Amino acid sequence: MQLTCPMCKEKTTWKENPWRPFCSERCKLIDLGKWVLEEYKIHEEPAEEEKREGT
Ligand SMILES: [Zn+2]
Repeated sequence: MQLTCPMCKEKTTWKENPWRPFCSERCKLIDLGKWVLEEYKIHEEPAEEEKREGT
């Protein structure tokens, strides 16, 4: 089974691919880094969520 890496659009395989659905560790880390950055943005303003939970 072939798939296209969502990060760099390279063709890669599903089987025996520890980085799926990415083609390589690099692409997986780029995607992970993206999520970490998103999380970081959310955690930057925790005040509003704390307020909501208090009420
Ligand atoms: Zn890739």
